[in-house]
Amino acid sequence: MSQTVTAPTTTDITIEVVYRGIFQKTLAQRICRSVVLAARRRGSPGTAFARYGDSPERNGVPAKQFAVVAADDTQLEASMARYEPSVTDVTVAVDDTLVKGVESWAWYGRQPIWKTTKPDGFVIVTSDKTPDEIVAQTDTAVRPYTLAVVPGAASFAGLWVYKDDHTDWRVLGALAKVAPDWIRLEDVRALVQEQTKDPNAVASVQYGFDATVLRPVAVGEGTSGHEVLQFEKPGWTTMRPGIVVDARKPGERNPFYKKYGARTMRPVVNFDTCIKCTMCWLDCPDECFEVTPTGHYEVVYEACIGCGICAQVCPVKDCIVMVDELKFDPDLDANKTVWPQWQADRGTYNKWFEAKSGVSAAPKSAKAAASSGAAATGGED
Ligand code: SF4
Ligand code: SF4
Repeated sequence: MSQTVTAPTTTDITIEVVYRGIFQKTLAQRICRSVVLAARRRGSPGTAFARYGDSPERNGVPAKQFAVVAADDTQLEASMARYEPSVTDVTVAVDDTLVKGVESWAWYGRQPIWKTTKPDGFVIVTSDKTPDEIVAQTDTAVRPYTLAVVPGAASFAGLWVYKDDHTDWRVLGALAKVAPDWIRLEDVRALVQEQTKDPNAVASVQYGFDATVLRPVAVGEGTSGHEVLQFEKPGWTTMRPGIVVDARKPGERNPFYKKYGARTMRPVVNFDTCIKCTMCWLDCPDECFEVTPTGHYEVVYEACIGCGICAQVCPVKDCIVMVDELKFDPDLDANKTVWPQWQADRGTYNKWFEAKSGVSAAPKSAKAAASSGAAATGGED
């Protein structure tokens, strides 16, 4: 449990936490605040802050919060001069749906997840995947860094709600592993014990420290296969003054709201097992689902940011499966809707679903089968 602590060789450390707007806001806050509070236990001043404090942080859009810890107040003040740090020592992606990078409200185009990570810095990702699988989804490295994979699934909750699944404590353990000069394991354990009085939370910190896998990433590793946005967004010089929201006819979508550029995972739907419960339609933060003539719900992929909430709220096992974007051909698959294919030829569609998702398209239980049968053969079809 003890951790070798050496004197910091730098005057400060900057950590950015990339998360999906609102759903993971509290998670990101807890990580950043805990970094600062743990560092204060050894006398290092620090501060935690968010880049966004208003409504643009919404709808599953990648957003950032920061924690800065310094050797003394003077260094901290110098660090605080940066509104948004352009160089960070550690980047944390709170789950692997974010490793493709960040496209925020503040600029057009996607930035790689490692965009601000300094040479030989760290990128921490919570994931059930192997490090090699994650590297395959990140942009080709232009400087070396170390990927640190914290075992765990994506942590999502409702708007502003915090899901107490210990993702924050595991990430703090991982931070103590990669930045022991600034974040001591003993300090984090003591802080979490104090705050939670829960030995399981402390054990999660230790688990994050012990189980996090480090994987050096060399220049040139990663993918250059992410698609380029296929449409033009208006630049700031062509934006209209004031707040203008065009009225749209029923069935039309805003032609500029296309968030797929930052999508690492794509939801694919098994229409045969869908029970038409409307949960995906209700809970998708970007209102990506359209109701089809058969009463099923299909994803409008150009609007989908890949947050994974639909797969989490769907009550039918494997009815919505999140699939790596790299499994789709950027040209052939593009962002086209797939429900018409299912409607035209269910056998071929189900084979495609199985090839992409890796799971069977057959109903998983008698209850699901009954529901599916009702859905697939009901009068609406
Ligand atoms: S369709 Fe699913 S993955 Fe895409 S934005 Fe909506 S909830 Fe997120
Ligand atoms: S895809 Fe899942 S969540 Fe959406 S309507 Fe069908 S069963 Fe419900």
